[in-house]
Amino acid sequence: MKILQVASEMVPFAKTGGLADVAGALPLALEEWGEDIIVALPRYKAVDPAKFKIIKLNNDISYSIIGKNIKVYFIENNKYFDRPALYGDKSGDYPDNLERFSYFCKRALQLLKELKFIPDAIHCHDWQSALIPVYLKNLYKKDSFYKKIKTLFTIHNIGYQGLFPKDEYPKLGLDWGLFNMEMLEFYGKINILKGGIVFSDLISTVSEAYSREIQTEEFGFGMEGILNRRKNDVFGILNGLDYSIWDPAADKLIAKNYSLKEPQGKLKDKEDLQRICKLPVKKEIPLIGIVSRLAEQKGFDIFAEALEQICKMDLQLVILGTGDLKYHALLENAVKKYPKIIVLYLKFDDQLAHKIYAGSDMFLMPSKYEPCGLGQLISFKYGTIPIVFKTGGLADTVNKDNGFVLESYSKEDLIKAVQEGLAAFKNKEKWTKLVKQAMQYNFSWETAAKKYVKLYEKAKAKP
Ligand code: ADP
Repeated sequence: MKILQVASEMVPFAKTGGLADVAGALPLALEEWGEDIIVALPRYKAVDPAKFKIIKLNNDISYSIIGKNIKVYFIENNKYFDRPALYGDKSGDYPDNLERFSYFCKRALQLLKELKFIPDAIHCHDWQSALIPVYLKNLYKKDSFYKKIKTLFTIHNIGYQGLFPKDEYPKLGLDWGLFNMEMLEFYGKINILKGGIVFSDLISTVSEAYSREIQTEEFGFGMEGILNRRKNDVFGILNGLDYSIWDPAADKLIAKNYSLKEPQGKLKDKEDLQRICKLPVKKEIPLIGIVSRLAEQKGFDIFAEALEQICKMDLQLVILGTGDLKYHALLENAVKKYPKIIVLYLKFDDQLAHKIYAGSDMFLMPSKYEPCGLGQLISFKYGTIPIVFKTGGLADTVNKDNGFVLESYSKEDLIKAVQEGLAAFKNKEKWTKLVKQAMQYNFSWETAAKKYVKLYEKAKAKP
């Protein structure tokens, strides 16, 4: 099969969240299965030419090779992409995001002609590449080059839809006839994600539970109706984890490697983390880690309510994250009050993230909703027991036998789950079993990639 993947972020080039992990790992797994895959990505300032071998193809396209021979094509446009961040800065989203990503989608489609590469399927991720199916089914409907190409649209988080004011519509280069409730309009605004849902051949999301949840009013963010109409085309495939990056036995970013067979190193990593965080270096104090966007979606509203009580427990809490300034301030205040309990890093720091996964005993991720979630999968591999709310991908992977679960999304249940974690930690025998069991799990991309190939085939077979 010939596949083009279009994504707005991708490991190792540019990352703000889980989408980058997926977009970076899936092509590698597909190549292992013998698929012919290429990728299109914007050439952000973050794509460091000193770090990656980047080869110029023409005026505005360059590429780098990953895996054995996967070409990742960068779409260059200094006006749009040569900026400090991917989507926005402290004052919010970049105001020209509609222009930036519609340009990206159009240029990616045009690139196919230049490469004479006709994919069987284009795999698009999230709203930033959702215009690809819209353009294929409308703007390029009569272009024979694109006629047979099918699309799979993967939703990583339906909370981010690419909403723009109606007056920006002409910038899309689409007929006004598409601006209606059944297509691109959402309460008077342009909704790019909706366009992707309507015009793609197949739709998927990143866990089975989330594929059902997004078809309900509670989790659908207004897209439940349109998704319901396409329910036979909606699938859930749980993300894998790239174990070449996330494996305590080979991780170069942690103080001491460890594995199921030789688990002692984990204690050294805990010591290392406690030292870095200037916390008392004590192995018997349970250490809870958080690596997350600081957003309500990630459970920080109930976490904020429970914080005072959590800080009075016998534990240490290390938090790494950036996001909502409201939570920055709130957590900073808590640090002032409980400096020996909470340590806070308000930044994006890959190395520190690895150290937290390795050095913590538990990983707190009480997301209000969670399409898949990578934090809990990474934690398992590092023998760090997750505490989660039962939703989406968290519900598909964590249960009472392998972690600590909030049955309802509430401050009370959060406190209860943390207490359960602390009690279990005291029972050394039980804890060792839990850790061993966690480290044995295998959420590899092999399984997920095989399922994606089935979806590409299914899309290809569509009339
Ligand atoms: P999201 O909704 O943010 O995509 P996921 O759990 O799917 O959530 O993936 C988040 C990814 O980003 C994980 O690999 C996590 O370790 C990483 N991450 C999140 N915040 C930070 C941070 N501040 N520093 C380093 N890595 C982070």
